[in-house]
Amino acid sequence: MSYQVIARKYRPSRFADITAQEHITGTIQNSLRMGRVGHGYIFSGLRGVGKTTAARVFAKAVNCQRMIDDPQYLKEVTEPCGECESCRDFEAGASLNISEFDAASNNSVDDIRMLRENVRYGPQKGRYRVYIIDEVHMLSTAAFNAFLKTLEEPPPHAIFIFATTELHKIPATIASRCQRFNFKRIPLDRIQGQLQQICDAEGIGADDDALQLIARKAQGSMRDAQSILDQVIAFAIDSEGERSIRYDKVSDLLSYIDDDHFFMVTDAIASADAAAMLEVAGMVNRNGYDEQDFLEKLIEHFRNFLIIHNLRSSKLIERPDQVRERYEHDARKLTPEEVMAMTDLLMQTQRELKFYAEHQFRFELALLKLIALGEGTATADEKKKSASEPVAPPAAPAAPAKSKSTRKPQQSAPEPQPAASAVPPVPPPPAPPAAATPKPASSERFAAKPAGTIDLGSWKQAFSKFGSNADQRVSTKPSASAVTSSSGSTGGVPVAVLEQLRMEWGRFLEHLTAKGLQVMVSHLHASDLMACSPDGLVELGCCRKFSYEELHHDADLLAREMADFYKLPLRVNVRYDAARDACTREKSVFTMFQELSESNEVVRYLIKEFGGELVY
Ligand SMILES: [Zn+2]
Repeated sequence: MSYQVIARKYRPSRFADITAQEHITGTIQNSLRMGRVGHGYIFSGLRGVGKTTAARVFAKAVNCQRMIDDPQYLKEVTEPCGECESCRDFEAGASLNISEFDAASNNSVDDIRMLRENVRYGPQKGRYRVYIIDEVHMLSTAAFNAFLKTLEEPPPHAIFIFATTELHKIPATIASRCQRFNFKRIPLDRIQGQLQQICDAEGIGADDDALQLIARKAQGSMRDAQSILDQVIAFAIDSEGERSIRYDKVSDLLSYIDDDHFFMVTDAIASADAAAMLEVAGMVNRNGYDEQDFLEKLIEHFRNFLIIHNLRSSKLIERPDQVRERYEHDARKLTPEEVMAMTDLLMQTQRELKFYAEHQFRFELALLKLIALGEGTATADEKKKSASEPVAPPAAPAAPAKSKSTRKPQQSAPEPQPAASAVPPVPPPPAPPAAATPKPASSERFAAKPAGTIDLGSWKQAFSKFGSNADQRVSTKPSASAVTSSSGSTGGVPVAVLEQLRMEWGRFLEHLTAKGLQVMVSHLHASDLMACSPDGLVELGCCRKFSYEELHHDADLLAREMADFYKLPLRVNVRYDAARDACTREKSVFTMFQELSESNEVVRYLIKEFGGELVY
């Protein structure tokens, strides 16, 4: 016999087998018992949660001979019997009383007209003809209108079931003539239970953790979970008698990033250990994980801490018990405010990664910035302990970072501690509460100084925290950006400044947009920050001739805006990058549309109102 995929082999054939949709199956069974069957139904919900399956069971039930003939059976069981001729026809896929119609590929008026013609013919055997229209939101407006009449006065033998993942796209005229059922996302434990049953039936052993991992990956969709299980079985079970699914194999196959890695991030924050943080970044890189994916999971990791802070319970965290306990324990290392600030930073980084190159560097920088945001996050006990310890010797690379983590508000004033001398040019940090956000601290520092008189030391001062991270990075793994911009730099400081400018670049553009300078922003989208000299001359490379001319013309205004935003005495030199102009011309259509969609109010409005998106 040919192989049948799990999702089809274990497709429920009774209401009772449909997982986690009891609120719907119960209502339908009740209406069958009372003989109150409607003519139009909308089944909405995520993909793979049982909409079409429920529709098929419903079609089978209304035609089941036993349900029709045996009132006792109808009242007590209310399930298709699976034995009568009609049920057998349904199971063999031979029944003429069910028509499935895929609106995604048959969405024209003509298709609907054909369906309408068809509807006039009554059922063969049985009572009803059931029309299941899948992805009904894909019908054109004209097709919906053509259908309206049929739905207003349906023949008594017709039942329409519209299945959709996007309920809001169904016109109100159609929706108001139907009973609506919203299918829920299937809870993790129910999917896991179902997978366990399938494994039992197939004679395959499986770790609980492995099945939970599959269930989690499926994100509430039973069909997805079953498809993954198919794949896992093919991967994990070999011909040499191995008959079990193990966690490590599943996590391997699914490129799953283990929870441990996210705890490593929070541990590195708590101990202000930049080296450990870079190790995590390196792991992501080595294993070929997607940075965006990692960031998304890391945001979820922080969300779990927020849940614990707010609910004081880990019930809502869908993880094995020991992981939940670890969340409860580690939640003490971070305050809710810090968690929120970190989540903000990560979301901003996600946006930046979409639009800028140098992914790896931005990713590492974001992770290192988490340490800065989490300064002083060690628990009270740890703080006391590390405060009583002698400060680490200057040679240890982690020393400056560690000294920061021990900083407490009351210690701020008298702190000429030895750690300050660990990195010679770095002065004692400014007022600690402000230190978490480097900008205001640096603003005071530079407001008083006229441009041009800035020496290297003050650059370092301005970005002392940032600089220490960047230096570290430069020393471990010089990135492409560091190399290209190193021409005018001494001691890596302007590199640090340049990277700081880059990190905040997205926000700077938002700032300009808010000030009504959208045109300038769209020209800046065609430009890159190339270098920054020690005296604050920023070099912008512009890959579009026209944008270059405009920016060159407005260089003074741009310099003022930059100086104002970054709180640094910056000057701007724009140059035209002809080589890049040629190589970026190919993707310019998308870029142009993207800029247009960001800068033009009409386009923004159209996108918002009609749910458009950029396709390229
Ligand atoms: Zn039957």
